[in-house]
Amino acid sequence: MDKSVGKAQKSGVKLEKFQTPRGVHDVLPDDHAYFTIIKKVVRHRARQAGYRRISTPVIEYKDVFVRGVGESTDIVEKELYSFSTKEGGDEYALKPEGTAGIVRAYIQHGMGSLPQPVELYYIEPHFRHDRPQKGRYRQFFQFGFEVLGESDPGVDAQIIQLAHLVYSDLGIADRLSLQISTLGCSECREKFINDLRDYYIGKERNLCEDCVRRLQTNPLRLLDCKEEDCKILAENAPKFKSEICDECKDHHQKVLELLDAIDIEYIENDSLVRGLDYYNRTVFEFWDKASGGSSSVGGGGRYDGLVEQLGGAATPACGFAAGMERVVALMREEKLMAPDKDHIDVFVAQLGFEPKKVALQLLTALRSEGVHALGAVGKASMKAQLSKADKFGAPFALILGEVEVREGKVILRDMKSGTQEVIPIGKAVAQILKRISKDRLDTYDPTKELKKDNSVKPEDELLIRD
Ligand code: AMP
Repeated sequence: MDKSVGKAQKSGVKLEKFQTPRGVHDVLPDDHAYFTIIKKVVRHRARQAGYRRISTPVIEYKDVFVRGVGESTDIVEKELYSFSTKEGGDEYALKPEGTAGIVRAYIQHGMGSLPQPVELYYIEPHFRHDRPQKGRYRQFFQFGFEVLGESDPGVDAQIIQLAHLVYSDLGIADRLSLQISTLGCSECREKFINDLRDYYIGKERNLCEDCVRRLQTNPLRLLDCKEEDCKILAENAPKFKSEICDECKDHHQKVLELLDAIDIEYIENDSLVRGLDYYNRTVFEFWDKASGGSSSVGGGGRYDGLVEQLGGAATPACGFAAGMERVVALMREEKLMAPDKDHIDVFVAQLGFEPKKVALQLLTALRSEGVHALGAVGKASMKAQLSKADKFGAPFALILGEVEVREGKVILRDMKSGTQEVIPIGKAVAQILKRISKDRLDTYDPTKELKKDNSVKPEDELLIRD
């Protein structure tokens, strides 16, 4: 223990017990079993479809999000964590979503000159100053897919299919309903927004405070407000689908037909607008059937104007993002247990310093064969060490005392039956390997995967890339 803490406690000074701030959470080892399987599934399905992984920084210039996500969106207006640099001047923000940063990276690294479309996926933390509640955090993890450089409806359908496949692999697809709509292009959107304003004029008294403001700044958001009175008005509001231009209608129809062709079920939902300004044409969300739109488990759509808006060449694009905490919550509700490979198979107990040396050598040998092994620390009695082995759930213990070491022997104990046998130290690893099943071994060897290649240049180093 830190000595100053001991002193403070003795002198009666009350020490503050730190907790995570409101709305953020630790990802504990048990949660990581779920995060790991999600990451594996995402990586597997993404690779199958030709995607490569990208990570953008947690901090970006605030303008990336203000211009990208939209000034009058809730995300930027209310939920952005932003701050100035110590020197003053530059305003930064923590990323609230993945798309704007990826588009910034696409432009910055000249990805427009790569074969198109560029397909990227990510698994990253995001930050929003949301009101904390179940399924709504201030730091949360999302996985997502982005396809840049292709306008064909086949991209929209494939991204939706990819999301569906991930949910399906994770055992929660049946819990979800795919809601889909279209927001048209910028021209049909302008016309539609005017019609919406006309419709709402004179009805302001029945709108919530936010919607009265949104009527000026972002009228589309009135369609997905969760307030009861606003919902009733939204039901009778003009419908996007009936007002969009022929090209947008054709795109939407083709997306739906392609989804039919690959057996993806969907519900057409006219009031789906998504909370981010960059979307056009296809928008979609996966809702938990039990709780509807209040708990979307993922969503996405087309953002054909965003690359240009952030300073790049006109580049059509489409993407999807899902909240990992919400996926985990649904997996748990479905009683799905994530595979947990953090088991211990052997506990190496020792009594004395010489035995500890041999114990360390044994641990090294066991681990290099892929056996999960623990022990060789402390001065506890043999009884206490064996009780520890039990608590860690180790099926076997190897026990070394001064006598055993002198004789080149070790005691192998079956923790369940309590039976013990004395074996030569040199045979201990082989005896353990005989007793535990192969699927419990961790035999990953990264040295087999790393190859020397003279085409690797120093400037490929991440840190000095400009
Ligand atoms: P969005 O692009 O805002 O629809 O977010 C995509 C997905 O991220 C949502 O469907 C949620 O699953 C998840 N998500 C968004 N905000 C939060 C939050 N504050 N806490 C946890 N998950 C979130």
